Amino acid sequence: MTFRTRFAPSPTGPLHLGHAYSALLAHDMARAAGGEFLLRMEDTDLDRCRPDWEAQIVDDLTWLGLRWDGPIHRQSDKIAAYNAQLEPLAGRDLLYPCSCSRADIRAALSAPQEGVAFAVYPGTCRHRAMADRRPGDALRLNLAAALDALGTPPHFTETGPGHAGTHQIDRTMALAQIGDVVLSRKGEDIVAYFLASAFDDADQGISHVIRGEDLFDFTPVQVILQRLFGLPTPLYHHHRLIRDENGKRLAKRDDARAISKYRADGATPPDIRRMVGL
Ligand code: GLU
Repeated sequence: MTFRTRFAPSPTGPLHLGHAYSALLAHDMARAAGGEFLLRMEDTDLDRCRPDWEAQIVDDLTWLGLRWDGPIHRQSDKIAAYNAQLEPLAGRDLLYPCSCSRADIRAALSAPQEGVAFAVYPGTCRHRAMADRRPGDALRLNLAAALDALGTPPHFTETGPGHAGTHQIDRTMALAQIGDVVLSRKGEDIVAYFLASAFDDADQGISHVIRGEDLFDFTPVQVILQRLFGLPTPLYHHHRLIRDENGKRLAKRDDARAISKYRADGATPPDIRRMVGL
């Protein structure tokens, strides 16, 4: 198997130290294995992604000494293709239209669901048929029906330091912790990041997904989608996060740690490698 991995930033802000670590690690692991390193722009969020952020990310990665195999893949070029992929799921009764606002969802969740780690959709629109889809509705996966359709619960293999091993996706936990995720956003025909990313990992023949620990919780959803679409499941490697001096994970708005800022202050690529512990 060719070792092929990717760095998949969303161009919604500058490349900061955390992204640089992710890109350098994925690149180094691919090169050490004699494999390939691809660059993908996850830019389906047309409101937040900007071409100038993309240009800055490309410039920073190049400055860091990274070279990628093949052209940059842009998700915004493929939105119609992703949406077309949803049709078979609708045909299998695994999707439903949803008109709930974030506020509706919060209200429905407030009392009975206290203690749940993140907002699991309460299923308000689950009874609705696809034929009732109105303009502006989102599309949700009926997770219980999807797991029934799969039969054997899927699993994935993780090689990262935090969760190394085989992870069986438990039905009860999936229903309690993931729920009916949105696959296509409200109003626009834009697919959710984790769906586009699952299609692209398959399309681009990604053997190893190397990314931050913060995305570990999305993996079960992606693996369920891979099985539903008959796509292969890559190996996963979720790496440690680069944190600030207070232990907080760096965020896009954390401009103080933008690579462009370090560059302006005279840092060199080896300095950046040292700062992230590589
Ligand atoms: N686009 C995602 C991000 O910037 C990364 C997704 C992935 O690596 O699977 O957080």
